[in-house]
Parts: sequence; structure tokens; C-alpha cells
Amino acid sequence: MNKIKLPLPQSGGLILSYKCTAACRHCMYFCSPQWKADWFTEDDLIEFFSLLSRKINSSPWGNNSVSLNHGLHFSGGEPFLNYDLLWKAVEIAGEYNIPSTFVETNCFWCSSDETTREKLMNLKNAGLKGILISVNPFYAEYIPFEQTERCIKISRDVFAENVMIYQLDYYRQFKQLGIKQTISLEDYYKLIQNNYLTGSVEVEMFLMGRANKSLRDFYPKYPREVLLSQPCTTPVLRNWHNHFDNYGNIMPGYCGGVSLGSWRDINRLVDEGIDLEDKPVLRFLISEDIEMLYHFARDFGFRENPDGYLSKCDICFDIRRFLFETEKFDELRPREFYLYSV
Ligand code: SF4
Ligand code: SF4
Repeated sequence: MNKIKLPLPQSGGLILSYKCTAACRHCMYFCSPQWKADWFTEDDLIEFFSLLSRKINSSPWGNNSVSLNHGLHFSGGEPFLNYDLLWKAVEIAGEYNIPSTFVETNCFWCSSDETTREKLMNLKNAGLKGILISVNPFYAEYIPFEQTERCIKISRDVFAENVMIYQLDYYRQFKQLGIKQTISLEDYYKLIQNNYLTGSVEVEMFLMGRANKSLRDFYPKYPREVLLSQPCTTPVLRNWHNHFDNYGNIMPGYCGGVSLGSWRDINRLVDEGIDLEDKPVLRFLISEDIEMLYHFARDFGFRENPDGYLSKCDICFDIRRFLFETEKFDELRPREFYLYSV
């Protein structure tokens, strides 16, 4: 397999920058306030949307509706950190008729009803179709829950049914628990243990990125042999929910630090394929063969953690982090992902 075609992207997220107000323990991309503010430029936004025009599919309910794995979302990091750029990006996306656009936020900016309504109305008037509001115990360590509630309430006024709460079960649970301010993960666990009315919430949780470091004491660890026989969470190559970042990378939505190529070359990558000749790491990842990647890395001196790993993605990242240090593999991008992962 020396060349493989990039599936034509039909949905995805635009990472305006990786900078964030929070440093959530589960963040797939190690986002934090420490990242440099390397935002998408306006010229890059125009180039990006001109390339993506007529590729992105609308939600099944139409161009003016939203759904998680359709259309295009504005993401980060935290996109509201650069509100003017977000606004501009929404306008340019509208000029190129990108359907089903929505913004993803942690609600740090929702300090008053007036500001929240004004910012959301401006984005709606610029062409934004909806919003995804993040709710779980990791965000709650940074964002007062009353701000999240404000964002949800006012978003429903502005975007009606085009408001997605990710994850709704946590939102319901936090309301039941009467949480208003921020709460540490440890206090949250104590609260649910002492509250027989709520119980635990069973929701999707990906053990990738920072989760594998900061949640190490919360989950069991397994030996490499057990994990590497598991399938990947999602295929690396697919046409839905890819991410396009401010450093020019196309990335599989759930695998941070893996570049499929530059979005500037998207048409060539779709028509002619990704050249894997000089991208051995990407070749192993695409075939989900992390066992072979492990043996490949051993030849460079990689040694696995004798304490075991939380997930297949945990060992995959450990290997890639090691290989990144050799500076031999262009597919391990953006560089900042690895530099900020320590
Ligand atoms: S999960 Fe979202 S809010 Fe949390 S650090 Fe990552 S980008 Fe920021
Ligand atoms: S094991 Fe690696 S390639 Fe597979 S889903 Fe996890 S991070 Fe992606």
C-alpha cells in the first residue's frame, strides 16, 4: 500500500486554534491556555472554504439544520476566544454556501444574559445555523455550570431546535444535583456517591489525548498484547467528521497529532491519493496495525510502559510521542500537539 485515496470529506470541524481557556482532563488535543495564539488567518479561511465548497453535506434535515456528523463546525480550542475571527469565519462560510454550520463552545464567555444573547444573535445574523454546548464533569472543573445553563437557555431562544448538548445526560444530572459553580472531578464523584437519586451517567468516553495522562488513576490499565488486538475507535480514513487545523493539517477527527496531509492539497489527495511511501507511521495507523507500529518503533529504541496502558489510543500515542522526538516523520503533525502534551 504505497498510495491511498483520501475519502472525499463530507463533514468536519475547523480548528480555529488549539488555544483554550480550559485544560480539560479528557481533551483529545491537549488544548490549554498555554498554546500559542496561532489563529487561522482570514486569507487561509477564504482558501479553505473555497476548497471545501460543494464538498460538505448538509444535515439530513437540510442546510439550515445541524447534526453532529454533518455539515461543518467551528471548533478549537475555544473558538469564542477570538470572537471577531469566529464571526468572520461564519460570514466566509456563508459566502461559499457551506451548509449546516455550528459552533462548539465551553461557555466561558457567557458571563451575562446580555453578552450571551448579543454574541449569539450576531453569529446567527452572519449565517451560523446552530451551536453545540459541551457539558460533562471535566468542563465543570473550569466553567461555572450556571454559565452553561445560561448558554443553553439563550441558545434555544436564538437557534431553537439547532442546539446540541453534548452530553445531555450530564446536563440533566448536574441540574438534579443543583450544581451552580465549578466543581472538581473529585468533589463531583463524592457528590454522586452520596446522592442516591442520580446514580452514574453512562455516556461515550474516549480514552485519548490528555485523558490517558490525567485520568490514569481512574481507569484500569492493561498490557499491550490485550489492547493491540482491539479495533480502533473509528477508522483513520473516513469521509465524516475530519478536522482541519490552523497549521494546514487534515486530521482524522479522533486521532490528534496525525496529519493526513495539507488541506491546501485536498483535491489532489482525494483524486490521486496520499503518498505513503515516506509516511510509514501513517501507513500503520491507516491499517489500524498498532502492533506493527510498536515493532517498528522498537527498532528506534521505544520501550513500552511496564505499568500498562488505559487504551489502544494510549499506547498508540506513547509510540507516536517517542517517534516524534526522532524528527523523522512528517505525518506526526502539528508539532505543537506533541510539544504541549508533556
Ligand atoms: S475539551 Fe474543549 S474546552 Fe476542554 S480543553 Fe479541550 S478544547 Fe478546551
Ligand atoms: S489507536 Fe491510534 S490510530 Fe487508532 S483510533 Fe487510537 S489514536 Fe487513532
